[in-house]
Amino acid sequence: MAETYQWPGHKKVAVALSIDFDGESPFLWKNRNTNWSSIGEYEHRKFGPRQGVHRIIDLLAEHNIKASFYIPGYTARKYPQIIKKIHNNGHEIGLHGDMHELVDELNRDELERTIVEPKKVIEDLIGEQVVGYRSPSWELTADTIELLQKHDIQYDSSLMGYDHPYSIEGLPEIPVQWLLDDVVFYRYVGGGKVHNSPKNPQEVIEIWKEEFLGLKRYNGLFLLTMHPWVTGRASRIIGLENLIQYFKNDKDIWFATCKEIAEYHQENYQGKFDEKVDIIHR
Ligand SMILES: [Zn+2]
Repeated sequence: MAETYQWPGHKKVAVALSIDFDGESPFLWKNRNTNWSSIGEYEHRKFGPRQGVHRIIDLLAEHNIKASFYIPGYTARKYPQIIKKIHNNGHEIGLHGDMHELVDELNRDELERTIVEPKKVIEDLIGEQVVGYRSPSWELTADTIELLQKHDIQYDSSLMGYDHPYSIEGLPEIPVQWLLDDVVFYRYVGGGKVHNSPKNPQEVIEIWKEEFLGLKRYNGLFLLTMHPWVTGRASRIIGLENLIQYFKNDKDIWFATCKEIAEYHQENYQGKFDEKVDIIHR
């Protein structure tokens, strides 16, 4: 029989909410070598820092839930007041690249800079050590894992090798999954680039509840990933509120930030569920 993960206080499932506060950085990275002039997607992404993120912060405050925010260095430099607001609301802040670079497109020095520089920017803003990392677009390399450990990062949250915490090369991993990512269901950028229309929030919340019930059966981690420019839209905030209310009626949940989950995993599961990067080229 498969070994089930044990949560604190005999809870059956852990719930963590994470927010990847990218701002416009992915657009700027994607277009870094072009003479772009159309501001459609640029404005669309700015909805995040202008309105979306504030709605999410307010909703979390109303329900007294602490979340984990992952923020690129660029976004932290451009919106320092928002970073301070997130921190002052008691949320965790983790790294998310500098300009939302894909880690496998960087050489080792460039990669190291996307860890070291944003870490300093964010730590200077919040006056606290940053211990978590989530890679842009959830791509990861063995080099990245090594560099994170070199720079005292205590956990990563970018991989999907289990649906409960594990370790990769000794680094605790707080796993994500596409089924629990808002962009899969809601992202629509127009311009003929995406052909499926965005899903109705009620339908999305139902899908998330079903996955939650499955994870509860298997003692898993329900880690939801949201983006302010995507989830910050009016009806989706109401959907998120419905989901939070549903969770608050369930006594079997351990609500935690990714940092708290990583600490719990380190204390209780060191050396267990510890995996290697075994890349095979054929
Ligand atoms: Zn991102």
